[in-house]
Amino acid sequence: MPAQLINGTALSQQIRADVARRTAALTARGVKPGLAVILVGEDPASAVYVRNKVKACGEAGLHSVLEKYDASLSEADLLARIEALNADPAIHGILVQMPLPKHINPQRVIETISTAKDVDGYSVQSAGDLMAGLPGFRPCTPYGCMKLIESTGVDLRGKHAVVIGRSNTVGKPMALLLLQANATVTICHSGTPDLGLHTRQADVVVAAVGRRNTVTADMVKPGAIVIDVGMNRNDEGKLCGDLDFAGVSPVAGWITPVPGGVGPMTITMLLVNTLESAERVTR
Ligand code: NAP
Repeated sequence: MPAQLINGTALSQQIRADVARRTAALTARGVKPGLAVILVGEDPASAVYVRNKVKACGEAGLHSVLEKYDASLSEADLLARIEALNADPAIHGILVQMPLPKHINPQRVIETISTAKDVDGYSVQSAGDLMAGLPGFRPCTPYGCMKLIESTGVDLRGKHAVVIGRSNTVGKPMALLLLQANATVTICHSGTPDLGLHTRQADVVVAAVGRRNTVTADMVKPGAIVIDVGMNRNDEGKLCGDLDFAGVSPVAGWITPVPGGVGPMTITMLLVNTLESAERVTR
């Protein structure tokens, strides 16, 4: 039997409808959740990402501002702008689109965003909160992956989860979230000699590599939940993930497609984080 498709677009719509309801309720109490998105430079992919984020805010009733700056913007000016947004009561979340021009230190930028408004969850404080199991903003992509896994109804307690990739934004927080859900977690990376040895034992595989066909049918345990974070292009230039989707589908129990899996969830969780940041203000 082929795997059940985990439909990220449909789940995303459900969560966004809930965000819209809660946003309307909060707005009626005088607090409209607000997100500031900063784009520095002309990277075309980044321009699409920020446009989609601003559009998603509008559709869910959140206030948003998009600040676009020339690639020559100095680091000091960017930091000053972030400080002003930190102090702006109409803004509950601040997102600086990466990558930044080379003369700007991205970590310094992230650390300048107030922890209370770090809706991307990329700061050292947010990472530490996740590590310590304290409340805080979870990075949107792994947070979205957890929602996709939860939607299967499978309890992660006692399950073995393998995360492929150890970036600070996806792989590592993903592993911590799975651990928090009581899975036994293995993290693989480019130095892992035999990836299949690990993934074949996994009840859950999360592939966050950025290389197509990293996970093939022979590497998956029958019935496993397989989440594809990767965003790659195939030979025809079409978007594809890290899985050999056609091969893995008949083996897995649940699988996410690319597109329509993790992708829509990332922006959705950004809306959730921004809304929850605003909700905290009223508590
Ligand atoms: P990244 O920073 O480049 O990290 C990739 C990870 O994969 C690294 O930890 C790397 O190991 C590991 N890796 C590389 N080759 C490997 C191999 N052959 N076997 C095992 N591990 C290997 O990328 P990222 O930012 O985490 O993103 C990963 C993918 O997810 C990309 O395709 C990205 O576009 C996509 N993505 C999608 C979304 C979404 O919303 N859908 C959001 C974020 C990212 P080392 O650490 O040893 O180098």
